[in-house]
Amino acid sequence: MKDLIKKQFKTEAKKIWGSSVDNLNIKVRIGENINQKKHKQFVPASLEMPKCITPRASGNVLLKTSKNITLQVHPETLKLSKKKLKNVLKHEALHIGYFQHDKEFRRLAEKFGIPITFESDGLIKIKEQCAKGKRFRTVAMAKTEQEARKMGQDLYNKNRSKGYRYMIEW
Ligand SMILES: [Zn+2]
Repeated sequence: MKDLIKKQFKTEAKKIWGSSVDNLNIKVRIGENINQKKHKQFVPASLEMPKCITPRASGNVLLKTSKNITLQVHPETLKLSKKKLKNVLKHEALHIGYFQHDKEFRRLAEKFGIPITFESDGLIKIKEQCAKGKRFRTVAMAKTEQEARKMGQDLYNKNRSKGYRYMIEW
């Protein structure tokens, strides 16, 4: 199973980044990752590379990434349908060049038909912070970025006098 996932992951990575991923040393590890335990949320897979390395890309041109990459796959992910598993691998393959779900990541994801998030079925979270230094917590969900921004703005306007702050998260 590990070898199969590795092969599929490499195939998806090649579709996005071309031959620049040929020489990467990719390992697959089946198990829960640290964030999984911290957030108590199902994270289907994550890409791990040395902390000192921040991948960089321009569009689908890979500029910099780690030579050694570990694809951590949650055991439950192996139970997903072929199509869902493929989407998870595509998503992680995109992380080879983009560490976070930033604008460029999302643009490429859309271009390649890759889901941006797997938690909450792709909904975007609107998070609220009630005082400086406090944790942002999810107060609403939206289907599109536009909808999320609007909801965040409305909440901000409503609670501005209380000093609440808002952000959206994919
Ligand atoms: Zn991701």
